[in-house]
This record gives sequence, structure tokens and C-alpha cells, in this order.
Amino acid sequence: MYGSCRPLAKVQYRMMNLPIDPSARQEKMIKQQIIARGIRDPRVIEAMKWLPRERFLPEEIQGHAFDDAPAQIGHGQTISQPYIVALMTEALRPEPDHRVLEIGTGSGYQTSVLARLTGEVYTVERIKSLLDESFERIMSLGIRNVHFHFGDGSLGWPKHGPYDRIIVTAAAPSLPRGLADQLVDGGVCIAPIGDRTAQQLMRYVKTPGGLEQHAICGVRFVPLIGQDGWES
Ligand code: SAM
Repeated sequence: MYGSCRPLAKVQYRMMNLPIDPSARQEKMIKQQIIARGIRDPRVIEAMKWLPRERFLPEEIQGHAFDDAPAQIGHGQTISQPYIVALMTEALRPEPDHRVLEIGTGSGYQTSVLARLTGEVYTVERIKSLLDESFERIMSLGIRNVHFHFGDGSLGWPKHGPYDRIIVTAAAPSLPRGLADQLVDGGVCIAPIGDRTAQQLMRYVKTPGGLEQHAICGVRFVPLIGQDGWES
């Protein structure tokens, strides 16, 4: 069964099974892949410094945790490249009191970055074993403001909506209608939209007149499989 509760005070992170300082390799990744490429939000940089990225990769490839590339996490799925995690998080503009919906838990890395920056994270994954592993990982890191759901995230998670922010970490042919409906007025959604091989990373803002949208850059994500995504 999945648990969730309130975030811990910052000082308590010292009591968790977490390094107080990032490793030299993690520092180098932040400098060369994140800051040098234009990520400026200090909260995003701090969150990615704080989180031990190697803990989100299968043991046998943890040596690749700081590579400038996505990595395989099993079931044909990937943990996103560090820069893409930073870019999507910065574009989302998460605030400490926000409730955020994430579609595609994967390794739980993006989930944990968001958990550091926001009030509550609601994450949905369609592969049960990935969700179970992420749950264990996130619990072992002492993170307590994440709510986990096994299901088809192309439909969102209406039970807890509307959300201040929505992030989709798998590629959809178009933004699923349910996700737009589950966003508050003024809310922001980041999602890779396109075909199965290449997409544009889109930023949507919900306004009284509809969704405003702009493309951030070209990306390649694994497909969003589900009723309002790809068939298989
Ligand atoms: N953000 C993740 C991380 O930090 O590891 C990476 C996510 S991975 C690129 C995309 C994930 O979306 C996969 O775990 C995949 O199983 C999941 N996914 C695909 N379609 C889905 C759906 N309809 N609902 C929920 N998750 C889905």
C-alpha cells in the first residue's frame, strides 16, 4: 500500500539517509550540464544538488548516473537526461504551496525533485513494478509529500484535481483533454507533444480564453501509452 504524508522540515534532511553535500561528480554535472546550459532558478539547482541521482538508477548502471543522457530503468523505460529534468522543472515554475500532478513516475527522480520544491506531488505510473520501486526509493529517502497512483495517467488523476501544475514525462500525440481539465485557471502544464520518435516540449498556461501554448525545444521521450495517448 502506498503512503503519503506531510513534508519534513529542512533540518530533518540531515537525519535521513542522504549525503549532506553532493558528490564531486554530481557537482560537476550541475555546473556543466545544468548551469552552463542556462538553468538559472536557484531552487531547481539546489534540489538537483540535494538529491543523490545515483539512487534512482539500477545498481549495475549507477556509475552512469551523471552522464549527459537518459538511462534505462527497465521495462523499456528511461530516467530523463539531467538537463531535461532541470529544464522541465524550471519551466513549470513550481511554488512551495503548489499541488503538482506528474504523469510517468518512472524512477521517481523527477518526482523527488518536485517534492523538494512543492507542497504535494501526485504521481501516476502505468507499470506497477516501476511504481513499487519508486515508492520504496522515495520512502527510503525520507520524502513524505508524494502520493502514488497505479493507472493510466493519460486520464490524469481527477480525484485530487485541480492541480496548480501538471508535468507529463512521456510523449503524447496531443495534450490529453483530461489533463487540461484538471489544471487550475492560471495553471501551467509541461508536456512533450508530437509523434512517437520526436516531439516538442510544450508549455501550456490555462487562461479564461483557453490554453496558451509555446514550444520550448525539440525532445525525444518514450510514448504515453493509454486511452488518451498512444495505443501501445
Ligand atoms: N520522470 C521519470 C524519471 O525521472 O525517471 C521518467 C519517466 S519515463 C521517461 C516515462 C514514464 O511514463 C515511464 O515510466 C512509463 O511507464 C510512463 N508512462 C507511459 N504511459 C503512461 C501512462 N498512460 N500513465 C502513466 N505513466 C505512463
